[in-house]
Amino acid sequence: MAESTFMLEIVTPERILFRDEVQFLVVPGAEGELGIMRNHAPLVASLDIGVLRYKNASGTQKKMAISGGFVEVIDNVARVLAETAEHGEDIDVLRAKAAKERAEKRLQAREENINLTRAELALKRANARLKAADAL
Ligand code: ATP
Repeated sequence: MAESTFMLEIVTPERILFRDEVQFLVVPGAEGELGIMRNHAPLVASLDIGVLRYKNASGTQKKMAISGGFVEVIDNVARVLAETAEHGEDIDVLRAKAAKERAEKRLQAREENINLTRAELALKRANARLKAADAL
């Protein structure tokens, strides 16, 4: 293990998306962004819908969209347990744009039986995906 890296694992209920050494991690914590480097103190925090960033062992910055979950840091292993997660380059931009439009229309229409919270969360997921894909 290089002197300046730590292990990052990103897992969803469906699959392991990432498992490798990284130099730096920023996650969207429920109370704001959390930056994590090697030798970080033990931590458990809940995550918001948003963009996760890491710098891989060769120094390249990567982005992922995640939609809530938890991060745990202990002994130079950071585990992100996310409800959904996609690598920026795997995101279907047209699908995220369509989801964003759908959610915005629902929020504008303010129909009686629409679930506002559900539409707001869908909009937040779509915006996170567009940001992670550099399409916003
Ligand atoms: P949609 O309305 O387009 O389905 P959503 O926000 O309701 O969007 P989720 O319930 O968060 O979708 O995700 C369902 C599954 O689809 C997850 O496995 C997620 O990773 C994947 N997914 C959702 N949107 C995209 C996208 N734009 N590109 C790639 N994968 C996506």
